Amino acid sequence: MRAKRSKKYRKLMHQYELTFGFREPYQVLVDSNFLRAVHNFKMELIPALERTLQGKPKPLLTKCSLAAIMASQPINPRTNNPYRPDHLPPPTILPLRHCSHNADSSPIDEVACLLSLLSPSTDTKKNKEHYILATADPHPAEKKDKAAESSAAGRKRKRDVEDKAEAALRKARDLRRQARSIPGVPIIYVKRSVMVLEPMSDPSDAIREGVEQGKFRVGLTDKATKTERAAAAAGGAAEGEKKKKKDLKKAKAPNPLSMKKPKKRVQEPGVKAGKPKREENEEKPTEKEAEGDGDGEAAPKAKRRRRHHNRRAKPDGDGEGAEAPADVMDD
Ligand SMILES: [Zn+2]
Repeated sequence: MRAKRSKKYRKLMHQYELTFGFREPYQVLVDSNFLRAVHNFKMELIPALERTLQGKPKPLLTKCSLAAIMASQPINPRTNNPYRPDHLPPPTILPLRHCSHNADSSPIDEVACLLSLLSPSTDTKKNKEHYILATADPHPAEKKDKAAESSAAGRKRKRDVEDKAEAALRKARDLRRQARSIPGVPIIYVKRSVMVLEPMSDPSDAIREGVEQGKFRVGLTDKATKTERAAAAAGGAAEGEKKKKKDLKKAKAPNPLSMKKPKKRVQEPGVKAGKPKREENEEKPTEKEAEGDGDGEAAPKAKRRRRHHNRRAKPDGDGEGAEAPADVMDD
């Protein structure tokens, strides 16, 4: 089960690499709910992200997310600053991503901040920095007010807390929903103690399909096409769609280079001239096609060689394959 999931995630991230140009280390924008969930379920931030992304993560915390985390912390009376919460990892593990949304760089709403980083331009939705969003549903409302429930004030407070929790939940869902509308945003979230990588959203999927069919290239950067080509050339992982692509290439690809190689190995000692061999080739065209081509080249060269016996090996860099028939002819 776990192996199956990691394979699925590896494949998914590979598609983000091919289609949108994602690269390791993957930049992950983590939000306050995500950090709390990771802590509550006793996960370790980096290893958990690494397992989920099947690659090296680089988690980042925006200034606005940090402000949101600190805003809900009690103030330390001695320093007059909020206590650093347990669920906030040190900056060595989770560095700050500086963001500035206004003249005095004061923090804004966390969700607005994250969405502005995921898609900086307002007219075209595009995740050009290749961020991954890591989020979670907010921590359920704490029940420490239970004792006070009997009093009217306590009940009212409880209702306020519930309203707040509901608003927070709606906001978290809204973040995810809006992130899905931006093509090329992988979304990680914590769902009941499991870190999940969402399947590609419909807008992302549409672009992926477009790239695969080579039909439309909306939202594609040059980089992405290059990397796609490079990956295709390198012949990477075994993937259904990729295999299909490769097969198509094989079928129509020209093969002059690959045809010369077998010439060496399939060399037949008894062959004398180009002509009889050609006939042979016509009988078994598929296997000997390579040889046929080689002979076509060898025949005219052999003629020339008859006039310049001594030099026959030197000017001809074509390989031993072309020489051998000439030897036979000389004898
Ligand atoms: Zn911000």
